Amino acid sequence: MSKKETIVVCSAHSDDFVIGAGGTIAHYAAEKKKVIALIFSYGEKSHPWLKENIVQKMRSRETIEAGKVLNCEIIFFDLREFHFQEDYQQKELEKQFLAILNRAKPTKIFTHSSEDPHPDHKAVNAITMDLWQKVKQKPELYIYSVWNPVSFKTRYPSFYVNISKTFSAKLNALKTFRSQKFNAIYPLFTLILFRAIKDGFKLRTLFGEHFYRIK
Ligand SMILES: [Zn+2]
Repeated sequence: MSKKETIVVCSAHSDDFVIGAGGTIAHYAAEKKKVIALIFSYGEKSHPWLKENIVQKMRSRETIEAGKVLNCEIIFFDLREFHFQEDYQQKELEKQFLAILNRAKPTKIFTHSSEDPHPDHKAVNAITMDLWQKVKQKPELYIYSVWNPVSFKTRYPSFYVNISKTFSAKLNALKTFRSQKFNAIYPLFTLILFRAIKDGFKLRTLFGEHFYRIK
């Protein structure tokens, strides 16, 4: 039997992959592809009043639940927020990442944009670009947006995925992030809905997700 086609999604924080590519992940999983989300950080800084290990436990539980909703495997890396590059070097994670990628041989990797204003998102873009250079089998490389538009430049070709059948799974996956209820996610459901309709319009479908192919 031939190996399942594999897709990898790189995510700075525990919820980015759902916001940026949740519908697409569920779409590929429904096509019987294997999807792996690499989560760089638990994102403990958003709950300064809780002990970091409590936040980590809470976040990892929620993220695994979100992964179940979307049918994707989750792998965590414990990088400290705003110290991604430093920790990545210090913990010598390149070997680990390359081992995962060389084993999985993904056909596509989705990651953050270098134009994203968040320093952790930028760092994940830089790390992914570097890994792409070093991985044996070159996958197609796409960038997704979280809160800000994925790119302000138009030099990259657009890639749209029809998520009409999986948009509800994306919303259900977002709902698993209960610990962030009062932070970011809930008020932005409208933004996510608006974006899905706008991107779906390009495909003449109900809902879509938009990426740029950079490699
Ligand atoms: Zn993030």
